[in-house]
Amino acid sequence: MPPLDQTAAPTIAPASAPALDFPWAEPPAPATTIEVAPGVRWVRMPLPFRLNHINLWLLADGDHTVVVDCGYGLSETRDHWRTILAERPPTRVLVTHFHPDHMGNAGWLSETYGAEVATTESEWLWAHYARYGDPVTELDERLAFYRAHGLDATRLDALRNRGNWYPQGVPTLPRHYRRLRDGDIEMIGGRRWRVVIGRGHAPEHAMLHCAELDVLIAGDQVLPKITPNVSVQHPEPLANPLKLFLQSLERLRNLPDDTLVLPSHGLPFRGLKARLDAMSDHHDDRLAEVMDACARPCTAIDIVRVMFRPDLDIHQLGFALGEALAHIRLLEADGRLTRATDPDGVIRFLRAA
Ligand SMILES: [Zn+2]
Repeated sequence: MPPLDQTAAPTIAPASAPALDFPWAEPPAPATTIEVAPGVRWVRMPLPFRLNHINLWLLADGDHTVVVDCGYGLSETRDHWRTILAERPPTRVLVTHFHPDHMGNAGWLSETYGAEVATTESEWLWAHYARYGDPVTELDERLAFYRAHGLDATRLDALRNRGNWYPQGVPTLPRHYRRLRDGDIEMIGGRRWRVVIGRGHAPEHAMLHCAELDVLIAGDQVLPKITPNVSVQHPEPLANPLKLFLQSLERLRNLPDDTLVLPSHGLPFRGLKARLDAMSDHHDDRLAEVMDACARPCTAIDIVRVMFRPDLDIHQLGFALGEALAHIRLLEADGRLTRATDPDGVIRFLRAA
């Protein structure tokens, strides 16, 4: 499966737009919560990555709680859940997308509390593919894909040794789920939360918007300081996720600018339109860099060197390659780049004449 552990592109993130307002300077301490809107509480959980935290959300629903996202499958996270959920156990778990820091404890929450798990169909199926797919075949396919895009033998070997570790982050999955669709309404604590689907970072990422509260639970679709990873990976080599991602950002422009945005990483903020502008500008700049570089034939690995700093570790490399390809594929699909495959099977891209 594609490398799935990291939310952010390992890129030089665009500076936070000065127009953003961060109402809370500090996150909640471990195993505590902060109320960020009536009936909406903020939880922070640890992650075993460079991106070392995730924000999760609790929505009050009478004597119970609706949990939004589950945290990575760590015993420390489950200990925090036990403390936080002791008084008001969850009846419902809404999962924004299948990445392990979001889906990780969905199975455990379902088993422990009898909570219903709801997510979109694509995220549900991708979780199963990532958790239960044949790891040997998957790894071979992934390495062949990386090789075709210019990765050298030394780093291919290093990646082979890493294997698949999605199951570490997602030890179990719920036995069944309820499907979320775009535009669905979840009634929680007497308030209407509308499901808003975003694409590009994950296949069918569910956000939740409450017009009454002016709150958007954004998941990884909109983050205040880092750009979400948007990657082409081997299961769908001709995907165009950056186009889908940018289209999804445009849809969010319909929301009021004073919406309180609750992201999965970083701090809650207001200033949605400024942030959408900054994210779009960031990708426009990267697209321009790719076009400049492809004045001569370039592999995707050549483009990684253009877009990213040189000291990427092997863990970050798969994301960087996927992100480089996302930009390449948008340009190729627009007819601005062409591809050629050499006799060794290595693919190079060149500016269209
Ligand atoms: Zn994610």
